[in-house]
Amino acid sequence: MTGSVQADAGLIEKLVLANQILYDQGVVDGLGHVSVRHDQNPGRFLLSRNRAPALVQAADILCYDLDGVDVANTGQRSYLERFIHAEIYRARPDVQAVVHSHSPNVIPFGATGQRLRPIFHMAGFLGSGTARFDTHDVVGDSDLLIGNAELGAALARALDSCSCVLMRGHGSTVVGTSIEQVVYRAIYSEVNARLQLNACTLGEVKYLTPGEADLAAASNDTQIGRSWELWWKQVTDKRR
Ligand code: MN
Repeated sequence: MTGSVQADAGLIEKLVLANQILYDQGVVDGLGHVSVRHDQNPGRFLLSRNRAPALVQAADILCYDLDGVDVANTGQRSYLERFIHAEIYRARPDVQAVVHSHSPNVIPFGATGQRLRPIFHMAGFLGSGTARFDTHDVVGDSDLLIGNAELGAALARALDSCSCVLMRGHGSTVVGTSIEQVVYRAIYSEVNARLQLNACTLGEVKYLTPGEADLAAASNDTQIGRSWELWWKQVTDKRR
């Protein structure tokens, strides 16, 4: 990577894998991004240059500060929406990794103002439901992108203490305490959305209670390594 403070090489490689896994699992396409807080400096984070996630390599990973500035001033193009990451890291010291995507099954929830709620144990991290954000409430008509610090800060305020925020007419952002956990959460937010949409056509849904959600989330966090190994193998097999 290029940056004035070198990050751990293993962390960078894991971030590269996360980019490729999120594409392989259908969470991101040409757009969307994943970041991790810098292991040496909590006021910085690691994020690819402006590139499709499936194509990201270690040399593409840049170091940003919490104003969204490319610390090493590499001259590379940055993601327009890097302020999502910057402002969430500023507002949430507990957050170590962030995924922003436009994964399709989540979109109807943001558009209707319905929360994603945990319909099965795998989505216990959704707790009592997702947060909601609407760029129109902040700036009126826009391209809906989180293209500056003001919008990033408003998004971070809307996220509050939740693990996922729905962005009306746009997508969603999930946060976690590790790369593995945030990738898991991004994948299962999309799965939960699909299942919740299906279940609603059958009748009234009984979601996990907040207590069940918390217990399931804690249990799942001890098992993420098993899924990560599978996701990792799928992308590395495809590289050969
Ligand atoms: Mn976006």
